[in-house]
Amino acid sequence: MAIENSKKNVTFISGDKTYSMGNGHFYVIAGPCSIESEVQFLESARSVVANGACLLRGGIWKLRSSAQAFQGLGKAAFDIVQKVTSELHTGIVTEVTDPRQIESLYPMVSIFQVGSRNMHNYALLKELANQDKPVLLKRGLAAYIDEWLKAADYVETSGRAQVILCERGIRTFETATRNTLDLNAVAFLKKNSPYPVIVDPSHAIGIGELVPDISLAAAAVGADGLIVEVHPAPKEALSDGPQALTPTQFSQLMIKLEKVLNALDRKLQKK
Ligand code: PEP
Ligand code: MN
Repeated sequence: MAIENSKKNVTFISGDKTYSMGNGHFYVIAGPCSIESEVQFLESARSVVANGACLLRGGIWKLRSSAQAFQGLGKAAFDIVQKVTSELHTGIVTEVTDPRQIESLYPMVSIFQVGSRNMHNYALLKELANQDKPVLLKRGLAAYIDEWLKAADYVETSGRAQVILCERGIRTFETATRNTLDLNAVAFLKKNSPYPVIVDPSHAIGIGELVPDISLAAAAVGADGLIVEVHPAPKEALSDGPQALTPTQFSQLMIKLEKVLNALDRKLQKK
């Protein structure tokens, strides 16, 4: 099939290493939903890096459904990111919520994240197309695969920025879990799109103790990796605490993931 022959590998730099997502290895990106303080981010980051994550996540500007909810530290997080990433020799993926943030985030990020709520923000996608760092494009809350791929096309039009797709659960009639993880989409896109596809199990299910189970399913279905929320004290988190893994749960997940990947002749890409 033509698509199979034109698979894209997406190169990103984390710390002093260059990685190539799409090469068959499994990449784990992890960290807190939001960066809340130096101590909180450092603790989360240390634990995930020590257990094999190759890139950090951490929200600086948060898009929250409620205007009263924690909106992220904004620029006050920049120094924290600088300190933690240089201490741990690693990079970060963080969400860009407004085209005006691109310039200041550019030197700091390994990958720009476009959140679900912005998948249809074509002004943002067009601006990201004009720079050369990869874009982690999350699926819209209720976006068809076709709409998602068209959004990816906006980012790739200039031929500079490369896209990684992220399935993070969609809205269905079900309310017992936060969203419904669409593993069909992962299988479909691995066959019918050129992009690497990763899974965000945290926003997909919204329940920390169930995150490991669907993470293993994501590896089994052929995803290129995961982006997982990990907080040193989930009950105290300023955003998305109920879905965060503790560092211990994360390290247990990594052990199981490696077993599933080995059974499939795949490798966990360690830092
Ligand atoms: C996030 O990754 O913190 C986030 C807000 O995710 P989403 O855009 O998928 O809701
Ligand atoms: Mn979150």
